[in-house]
Amino acid sequence: MDGSDHAFLAQVFERNYIAEGPCATQFREQLLQLTGSPHGVLASNGTLALYLALKGLGIGPGDEVLVQDITFIASANAVEMVGATPRFVDVPAFDDLTLDLDRIALTPRTRGIVVAHLFGTACSNIEALQGFCAERGLRLIEDAAQALAITDGVRHCGTFGDAGTFSFYADKTITTAEGGFVITPHEELHDRMVLLRNQGRRSSGTFVHEAIGYNLRMTDLQCALGLSQLAKLDTIVREKQKLYALYRERLGDRVTFSRIRDDFSHIPFRVVVFVEHAERTMELMKARGVEARAIFHPLHRQPCYAHLGGADRDFPHAVECADRGICLPTWVGLSVEQVDHVCASLLDAIA
Ligand SMILES: *Cc1c(COP(=O)(O)O)cnc(C)c1O
Repeated sequence: MDGSDHAFLAQVFERNYIAEGPCATQFREQLLQLTGSPHGVLASNGTLALYLALKGLGIGPGDEVLVQDITFIASANAVEMVGATPRFVDVPAFDDLTLDLDRIALTPRTRGIVVAHLFGTACSNIEALQGFCAERGLRLIEDAAQALAITDGVRHCGTFGDAGTFSFYADKTITTAEGGFVITPHEELHDRMVLLRNQGRRSSGTFVHEAIGYNLRMTDLQCALGLSQLAKLDTIVREKQKLYALYRERLGDRVTFSRIRDDFSHIPFRVVVFVEHAERTMELMKARGVEARAIFHPLHRQPCYAHLGGADRDFPHAVECADRGICLPTWVGLSVEQVDHVCASLLDAIA
């Protein structure tokens, strides 16, 4: 947030149109242009964007959806929210954070896959997942909450599947405080999501509702912020890439970095490194005033999903990932001196 964000917000107050309006239309159009997707709708946040996609695809009670074991919990909770059951799948290796195709066990109830592009790179196997789902009639939903502007120059993350979802939460590449977006190549799915997100009608101002829908809209206040953020996306990306390069330079091969696809753009959401013992290392770093964060807690270990009966032996790579992964600070505005201090404390801790 800076002065340019304030200026965009001030315009909304002057126009005195704070609910969904002209800024939302413009924000949506710019996001379609950026992702190269033909259809998209805004949502109140990334979790509800996933919900919209799953609900719009008709996934619900009795259905099962595969979710990679290492991701933010919203990837699974959205499945639960439509009444379906998430089934967790291990990652292919501790440093390769996608859903392992070789560990997939389909049942007659399996309807689709939610795969997350994590930490600002594309999933290593997104093309293979796309082929796998197409062959078997499964739905592919890409949780691209952390993957805005991640593209190989032709295809943007979120355009491989039946739907791709984004988040504009405060720590994402661009932020609207809270906000989300769903893209899809399917016109019918788009149409269903238009109705679902706005009380079952195509535009506000009518009290005749052709379908059952809810309120998953964004406000013009948020979308003005989104427009302001998009206007400086290049700067944000450059800053984050600079931080990543600095970390690589300072840490070299004394830690293992999470895998990054070099045929896609890379906008570090966090810098993820793997060490021998993450917890011990983070304690030592904290003693020097550095707040590193753990990587995601594996979904099969989540107390709220204990009823699904996941056991560590079925998720060896996810367990190793959690035991060894550390997220280093990557926010825009972090100084070279701060990165140096983080790196020094990390290298001392593992020494
Ligand atoms: C942030 C995030 C979400 C949820 O988005 P919200 O806008 O916070 O609801 C979902 N999945 C992943 C991978 C995320 O990083």
